[in-house]
Amino acid sequence: MTATIIDGKSFAEGLRGRIAGHVQRLKAEHGITPGLAVVIVGHDPASQVYVTNKARQTAEVGMASFKHELPEDTSEADLLALVHRLNNDDQVHGILVQMPVPKQIDSIKVIEAIAPSKDVDCFTPANVGKVQIGLPGPVSCTPLGCLMLLRDQIGSLAGLNAVIIGRSNLVGKPMMQLLLRENCTVTVAHSRTKNLADVVRGADIVVAAVGRPEMIRGDWIKPGATVIDVGINRIPAPERGEGKTRLVGDVAYAEAAAIAGAITPVPGGVGPMTIACLLANTVTTASLINGLAPPTDLTA
Ligand code: NDP
Repeated sequence: MTATIIDGKSFAEGLRGRIAGHVQRLKAEHGITPGLAVVIVGHDPASQVYVTNKARQTAEVGMASFKHELPEDTSEADLLALVHRLNNDDQVHGILVQMPVPKQIDSIKVIEAIAPSKDVDCFTPANVGKVQIGLPGPVSCTPLGCLMLLRDQIGSLAGLNAVIIGRSNLVGKPMMQLLLRENCTVTVAHSRTKNLADVVRGADIVVAAVGRPEMIRGDWIKPGATVIDVGINRIPAPERGEGKTRLVGDVAYAEAAAIAGAITPVPGGVGPMTIACLLANTVTTASLINGLAPPTDLTA
């Protein structure tokens, strides 16, 4: 079998088109311009790239984009003061503090300072709880993106065996909640899981969020399964020249693609969905803050 390649890049483009339509309507019918504030502390090159991409795509869908760049030695008190200002700024409907923050700052304190109504990353305890009991609000961006791709590829997920490898607060745990809500039978594997290959062999859906290059091998995959590879790992690529690197996922792509029914590539799979879902969440929070029902076509 040769797997269908799940094209997250083009799906994300379509999603951004729908988001732009909702932004237009919020402006024209309600005088609301959804606004996303992105805060970055320090000069981590990877974070700078993410933040620049987020700001560009925010502007492209017609939203207001507010970028706050703070020096590496920013104090926790100064960052918290900025978050409080953004919480009280009516033009801001979403606040994202790019992680990781420098070591003098307690990231948990920063997350807890963000108003849940503007927590578009879905990091605050209040929003994590809302996802768990199925109340409207922002949903963690990467798991939401994975779910949209799964629903588009498979349709109803009810009754399918899903194995998530990784139990982080960012990906694994919220993914578990979303797949349970879809009536999957969910197994969450982690570094202490025994016989991981056998666990994965039972899965109709595999979501890999480990952070280990090509760890999940092709012969772990059940024939016809759908594989969502969240991992983004940079590895040496001497075949491209001295010192060159390339990106790979957590799944050994070529091996898995020979057996799976469908698979996301890295890059071009889950990655583009994460930013698009951040924008979708900002439309959701802008709607809810203004007492409007959030759009229903921006979530899975
Ligand atoms: P974390 O490091 O927070 O979590 C990794 C998880 O993998 C942990 O639960 C850990 O288990 C588990 N794990 C580690 N080693 C093994 C092993 N040998 N066998 C089984 N499980 C193992 O990572 P994140 O969830 O933040 O990210 C995972 C990957 O996804 C990374 O590559 C990251 O770059 C990528 N990512 C991609 C995004 C995108 O937009 N595409 C967004 C976010 C992340 P334990 O809990 O026991 O330690």
